[in-house]
Amino acid sequence: MNQNLTTDRQTFVTHLECSITGERYEADQLHGLSRAGRPLLVRYDLDAVRSAVSRDTIEARPTDLWRWRELLPVRHTSNIVSLGEIETPLVPLTRSGGPNVLVKDEGRLPTGSFKARGLVMAVAMAKELGVTKIAMPTNGNAGAALAAYATRCGIETIVFCPDDTPEINVREIAMQGARVWRVNGLIDDCGAIVGKGAAEGRWFDFSTLKEPYRIEGKKTMGLELAAQFGWKLPDAIFYPTGGGTGLIGMWKAFDELEKLGWIGSERPKMFAVQASGCAPIVRAFEAGEEHAERWEDASTVAAGIRVPKAVGDFLILRAVRESGGQALAVGDPAILKAVDAAAKQDGLLLCPEGGATLAAYHQALNTGLVDEDERVVLFNCATGLKYPMPEAPQALDRTRPIDFDAL
Ligand SMILES: *Cc1c(COP(=O)(O)O)cnc(C)c1O
Repeated sequence: MNQNLTTDRQTFVTHLECSITGERYEADQLHGLSRAGRPLLVRYDLDAVRSAVSRDTIEARPTDLWRWRELLPVRHTSNIVSLGEIETPLVPLTRSGGPNVLVKDEGRLPTGSFKARGLVMAVAMAKELGVTKIAMPTNGNAGAALAAYATRCGIETIVFCPDDTPEINVREIAMQGARVWRVNGLIDDCGAIVGKGAAEGRWFDFSTLKEPYRIEGKKTMGLELAAQFGWKLPDAIFYPTGGGTGLIGMWKAFDELEKLGWIGSERPKMFAVQASGCAPIVRAFEAGEEHAERWEDASTVAAGIRVPKAVGDFLILRAVRESGGQALAVGDPAILKAVDAAAKQDGLLLCPEGGATLAAYHQALNTGLVDEDERVVLFNCATGLKYPMPEAPQALDRTRPIDFDAL
């Protein structure tokens, strides 16, 4: 068994806090959004964490997500349902990216996407707080991760997806024991159904950022990056942004690490990458707004970032602005071209959302937002194997003479 999970323990959570008003909420109770209708952030006694563990202690542990347990919310390890949440590698993308471009390849996580990070945490907390039935709207990967972890610990799940969610996602959700429904609408239409059922007391609402713990799971991407870069951070991060959980989570991780004295005050430029067919955060960034209006008629091949309205919009925009980064939109043709280039030139199969970060990197390079000397991390959030690929129809008839020169 994983050494990081063998001892039961207490963690260092002190309370939760409304991300917009700062209002305080009790730990160890079930919460959704704050009274102001905004995400709740988990707060820790970081002085106590600092006396309990050091960077060296963390580094001596096996390199999975649970090595960070003092900075995570689960009180009792017995509530954790693990499927093997490994530290994901940084893969150089030398040809299609450049000499200083690394891909954090999240496709290696359980259920093939980084949604596993958020959902392993949220499900453990749901179990700890006695939840028995969960519903969620999803563009695919979150539902798959929820289904896997919740089924594993006997929590019932009902999942709603837009009807054009990739077929493989709908099937993996069903296969992993959830009840899954295709809905003739977008993710926020699915979210409205989940919200109505939750208000009637039918289930607990697991929508992005509507429960407090997915951010804590996604935060581990920032913690891992710090350790992988020798307790420094890269110069720029390109993150495909839907609900923005990961970007918000990494930004929170960097603050906590600095308060612990484990990293300095330098921060990467954060680039929130969206598709031109659904770019509410980019539009709000460019207009200087603090909140983003809903994007009508959203459409893109990158289903994971087809999120017309994000409840944590202001947290994404704040982090991007504070970091000196930018919100960037890339078109579907550029996304598909980038996926093709990474596969053909570097042998790395990206998901479309990962392709979007590569396309955005080149855009940023061309417009001088980053230069080639800067160390850049692109997020590939899911395995490229989950997505449709071009046909490869060539067949060989072995009973006929073979033209070896033509092979
Ligand atoms: C969910 C998802 C995203 C967006 O992540 P957020 O943290 O919600 O913004 C990007 N890519 C893929 C493949 C996803 O599944």
